[in-house]
Amino acid sequence: MKLPKIKIYDEFDKMLRNVSKEVTFPLSAPDKKLIDDALLYLKMSQIEDLRAKFNLRAGMGLAFIQMGINKRIFVICEDLQDGNFKNYVVINPKIISTSEEIIYVEEGEGCLSVNRDVEGIVPRNARITVQAFDENGNEYTIRVREDLSIAFQHEIDHLNGILFTDRIDKDNPYKNSEVYRPI
Ligand code: ZN
Repeated sequence: MKLPKIKIYDEFDKMLRNVSKEVTFPLSAPDKKLIDDALLYLKMSQIEDLRAKFNLRAGMGLAFIQMGINKRIFVICEDLQDGNFKNYVVINPKIISTSEEIIYVEEGEGCLSVNRDVEGIVPRNARITVQAFDENGNEYTIRVREDLSIAFQHEIDHLNGILFTDRIDKDNPYKNSEVYRPI
């Protein structure tokens, strides 16, 4: 497999602080290509041999703004743990409902734009329902839970110029970790 050439901006670049703009359809050919490239990149980053070969960090999601494109688009490649991967293309997403229950990634959240270890937890809704459009402009509704719910919330934050590091309490990075559920 050939690694797609994509540039991922670092957290210290002001690019990531842009609020991304709503997308109109049909998508341009470059946007469609970037969706495909980003999904392949994410898949390859989650396959151990390829990750080592290309010196990658594992990631399951990328927002267009992380690649310098100011549009409300993100992709997620979910490792189904059976050798298969499931792709999600999410455009102009709106969160239409959220669970009361709050969860967090026990070992800490990660981001392909954050190239350092970050202490602390990021509280997220255990389940959310999202309305969005696919790459062909078809509207759909999806209910996601657990790590996929966290990934969706992390990527939606990117569309609004927010990084996971912003959501960690600076004075008490593990605040409420005993109240929320670790996953
Ligand atoms: Zn990220």
